[in-house]
Amino acid sequence: MSARTAAAVAFVADPAPAAEAAPLLSVVKGGARVAETRAEVREAVRAARAAGKRIALVPTMGYLHEGHLTLVDRAREVADWVAVSVFVNPLQFGPGEDLARYPRDLPRDVELAFGRGADLVFAPSVEEMYPHGEPRVTVVPEDGMAERLCGASRPGHFRGVLTVVAKLFGTFTPDVAVFGQKDFQQATLIRRMVDDLDLPVAVDVAPTVREADGLALSSRNVYLSADERARALALSRGLRRAAELFAAGETDGGALRAVLRGAMSAPGVEMEYGEVFDARTLAPVARAVPGSVMAVAARVGRTRLIDNAVLA
Ligand code: AMP
Repeated sequence: MSARTAAAVAFVADPAPAAEAAPLLSVVKGGARVAETRAEVREAVRAARAAGKRIALVPTMGYLHEGHLTLVDRAREVADWVAVSVFVNPLQFGPGEDLARYPRDLPRDVELAFGRGADLVFAPSVEEMYPHGEPRVTVVPEDGMAERLCGASRPGHFRGVLTVVAKLFGTFTPDVAVFGQKDFQQATLIRRMVDDLDLPVAVDVAPTVREADGLALSSRNVYLSADERARALALSRGLRRAAELFAAGETDGGALRAVLRGAMSAPGVEMEYGEVFDARTLAPVARAVPGSVMAVAARVGRTRLIDNAVLA
């Protein structure tokens, strides 16, 4: 651990001394900062912009892994000043979902983010993000995009996602925001929100990072037992087989779906959906074309996993 990250971790573990030394913005050695309030963020962004920097934001729910960190790498390629937000957003969790047990380790996240070159970590409390309780303004498209796929089994999920992302955009006013293709529907809805509302932010989507055996990295993988971890490969296996079939000339949506669903009809895997759809509208396609998207979701034990791939 470098001196810079050690200082950052110490601040998070015990905010009192650092807060006394720097009441507005907690500055850690090397210039990297941890902010807990929107006011601190605005001040840090104002200073970065005054220095002529292009601002990037990487929104996350923390428990960072290599997938998140490649988004930081990408952000550093396209901007000069990079912020990572770490916020487990209660608005996007439904009743009975894993909000309470969602994995959290802020000191580790701060160390990883700064180790990868982030300039600021924003780790607000729920009260800081939602001082007036749950916002009543909603920006979810009304045409069904948010009700398909993950939206079908997680009612209100994307309303929660788009609300927090809109607020983060309002707080950071980033020039660019980087998201992962791992959450394809989320990224598509965010692009749509930005487009519909003319938000002045470029949305950048980076490829999914996987383990060597194909499992997509996810904070939720920590829930998996060794046995479940092996069963979880059904998702990426189905995507790979269907992609191979498409490459061999099969374009029938039903045939490709059957491959995705077949791979997930395995013991210990409870399929939620296996779909082939249009990348822009998210509506199912009868005939797949290059650029169509395949997505899968399943429960392995108590853990809900998702994955997707774009057909080439
Ligand atoms: P989360 O913390 O799960 O909300 O994810 C935060 C961001 O990281 C989202 O834009 C995700 O799409 C992205 N992300 C999560 N897992 C991966 C992965 N395996 N590869 C690339 N990006 C990812």
